[in-house]
Amino acid sequence: MIRLNDITREILSYHPKADITLVEKAYVYSAKVHQGQIRLSGEPYLSHPLEVAHILAQMKMDVVCITAGLLHDTIEDTVATLEEIERLFGSETARIVDGVTKISKIQFSSREQRQAENIRKMILAMSTDIRVILVKLADRLHNMTTLGYHTPEKQRLIARETLDIYAPLAGRMGIYWMKSRLEDLCLYYLEPAIYTRIKEEIARKRGERERFIQEVKDTISKKLQEHGIQATVKGRHKHFYSIYKKMREQNLEPNQVYDVVAFRVIVNSIKECYEALGHIHAMWKPVPGRFKDYISMPKPNMYQSLHTTVVGPVGEIMEVQIRTWEMDTVAEQGIAAHWKYKEGFSAKESDEKQFSWLRQLLEYHQSLKDPVEFLESVRMDLFPNEVYVFTPKGEVKEFPKGATPIDFAYSIHSEVGHHCMGAKVNGKMVSLKYQLKTGDMVEIITSPKAHPSKDWLELAKTARARNRIRQWINKQEREESITLGKAILEREVSGSGLNLPNVIKSEILEEVAKELSFHSVEDLLAQIGFGKISPRQVIGRLRTKLGLKEERASGFVSKLVHKLKRRKEGKGIEVRGVGDMLVRFANCCHPLPGEDVVGYITRGRGITVHNKGCKQILNADPDRLVDITWSGSEEDVYLAKLRITSLDRKGILAEISSIMAKRDANIIQAEVKTTSDKKGIALFTVEVKDYNHLQDIVESIKRLKSILMVERV
Ligand code: MN
Repeated sequence: MIRLNDITREILSYHPKADITLVEKAYVYSAKVHQGQIRLSGEPYLSHPLEVAHILAQMKMDVVCITAGLLHDTIEDTVATLEEIERLFGSETARIVDGVTKISKIQFSSREQRQAENIRKMILAMSTDIRVILVKLADRLHNMTTLGYHTPEKQRLIARETLDIYAPLAGRMGIYWMKSRLEDLCLYYLEPAIYTRIKEEIARKRGERERFIQEVKDTISKKLQEHGIQATVKGRHKHFYSIYKKMREQNLEPNQVYDVVAFRVIVNSIKECYEALGHIHAMWKPVPGRFKDYISMPKPNMYQSLHTTVVGPVGEIMEVQIRTWEMDTVAEQGIAAHWKYKEGFSAKESDEKQFSWLRQLLEYHQSLKDPVEFLESVRMDLFPNEVYVFTPKGEVKEFPKGATPIDFAYSIHSEVGHHCMGAKVNGKMVSLKYQLKTGDMVEIITSPKAHPSKDWLELAKTARARNRIRQWINKQEREESITLGKAILEREVSGSGLNLPNVIKSEILEEVAKELSFHSVEDLLAQIGFGKISPRQVIGRLRTKLGLKEERASGFVSKLVHKLKRRKEGKGIEVRGVGDMLVRFANCCHPLPGEDVVGYITRGRGITVHNKGCKQILNADPDRLVDITWSGSEEDVYLAKLRITSLDRKGILAEISSIMAKRDANIIQAEVKTTSDKKGIALFTVEVKDYNHLQDIVESIKRLKSILMVERV
C-alpha cells in the first residue's frame, strides 16, 4: 500500500518548494472520514485515494490536484460535505472534488458506440478544470487495476465503459501511457484468453526482440547516413491492445501477428522520405500490398507519412513509418483527431485545434518547475458553445449553448416538437424558455393541443427545430388560406346557381386551376384566400365551362370588391403609403366610420381594420400595425349589430323600428326573443353611415320607455 510519504517525496522531487501541508491535511481528513470502510480487496478504503494521489504525483500534478485526489471520494461515500471541504481545503480543491463527484454520479446507461463520443464530450464539458478529468482518469486507472475483486459481470461492464470512454479521453488529453495501460487492462477483462496468448507470445521473444529493435535502428541510421540522409529512428513495442486490434482487423492468430514492433524514421524533407523508403526497400523485402503513401494522399485528419511493412533482418515482419519532422509534429499533436478518425468519427476543426493546444500545454507542463503556474492557465470551459444533456433513456445529446426544451423536443421527432408543451428537467417542471445545462436530464411533456407559435422561433437555437417550426407555421397559414379561399368562393357563388361542392367534385375547378396555372385546386383556393386572385375571375371561367351566361356576379365578395374599388378611388379607408390593398373589417370589434381605427397587416390577406381599443390589437405585434384613416363617403354604409334589452312591453318593437326609419337606418335583420323573467331581447342588424349616425340611433332608443340596455355586439 502506498504511504503518504511516497506521495510527498514524489511531489518534492519535481517541485521542491511545494507546500505539502495541504496534502498532509487531506490525508488525515480522508483517513478520518473513510475510517472503517473496506475495499472489495479487503484493504482499507484509504488505500484507493492514496493510490489515486500517487498516480497524480507521478504525472507531476500540483498540490491542489493531489489534494483533490486524496479527497475525491469523500463527498459521495462519507459524511463529508462540499462546504466542509471548501472550508478546510479551499475553493479550488472543493471545485475539483465536486466535479469528480458529479461525473461519478452520472449513469452512462447507453452502451451504444455512437453515444461514446457525446459522453466523452459531456465529461469534458462538465470539467471546467482540466484537473477534474485528470483525477477522474487516475481514479479509473486504479479501479481498473483492482477490478479483479468484482463479479465477472461488473468487470466487463466497467472495462467496456473504460474502453469506450476513459481510454480515448486519456488519449485526447495526450496521456498515451495511460491510454495504453487502460486499453490493455480492458483487454484483459474483456478478452482474457486472447490477452494471455498475446502476452505469452510477446514474452517468449522479449530479450531477442529488444536486441532486434536496436539492430534495426542502427542498420537504418547507418544506411541512410551513407546516402547523406540525416535521420532519427525510433523503435517501440506495440501494446497488447493494438496487437489485438490488428488480429481482429486482419483475422489473425497471436503468433501470426509478426509486426509487434514498429519503427519510425524522421527525416528533413519530403524528398528524403521517398529516398529513405527506397533504401529500406533495397535492404529488406517489402510485404506486397502493405505500402501506403499518405504523403501524396493525406488522411482526412491531415495525417501524412509513408507506411511500409518489410521482412526484416531475421525474417521478422516489421512496420516502418517514414515522415518529416513537420509531419511528425502534425501527427503527434493531431493525435486527438487520430483516434477519432480510427473510430470513424469526423473531427471538427475547432476540436482539433483545442486539443492540440491542450496537448502542447500538457507537454509544456512536464518541463515546468512550478506546476501551479501551468495549471493557473488551464481553468477554462473546454466547450464554451455546447451543452450535453441526457434523454430519460440515458442517451446523451449535444446542443448549442442557449438551446431550450423546444430544441430537445425537435431532436427527438418533429411530432414531439410540434406538440411540446413543457419539460421536466431533473424531475422539475420548467418552461419552454429554460436554457439547457450540461448534465441535465430532460423529459419532454407533450399535449395534442400544444402547437408551435412564432415566438418559438426566438426560443429555438438549432436549425432543425427552427426549420420544423417554420414549416409548420407556413403549412398552417396555407391551410387557413385554403379554408378562407373556399369560404370566399362559396359566398360568391351563392345565389348564382352554382353548387360549389358539386363543382369541386366534377373536377371542373381543377381544370380552371390548371388554366390559371396553379398546380392544384388547393393552390387556387389558397391564392383566393391570400387575396391574390379574384373569385369572380374563377367563377367567370366556371360559368363558361358550364355553358352558363355571364351574369352579374352577386354575393358578399362582389359587394366587398365593389366597395374596395371605390375605396381605391379615395373613399372609405385610406392606408398611409400603401396602395392596392385588400381591406377587411375585423369581426371582433366591427369598426365604424368616424371611430378611431388602426390597420393590422395579416399574412397574405391584406389589412384588417380594427377599433383602436380592440383587445386583439392591444396584444398584436406592433410591427404589423399601420395607420389608417377614414376617407368617408356619403354612399358608403356599414353594418352594425345592436342588442336591445327591454321590459316585455307591447309596441316596443314598433317604436324602435320607427326611430331607425326616422334616422334613415335600414334594418337588415331583426330577431326577438322573450326571456323567462319577462324581458325582451332584440337583435338588430342595421345599415349606418358612420359612428355618429349609430350613436344617434343608440341614444334615441335608450330614451324610450322600458328600455334597459342598448349594446353594440
Ligand atoms: Mn474513486
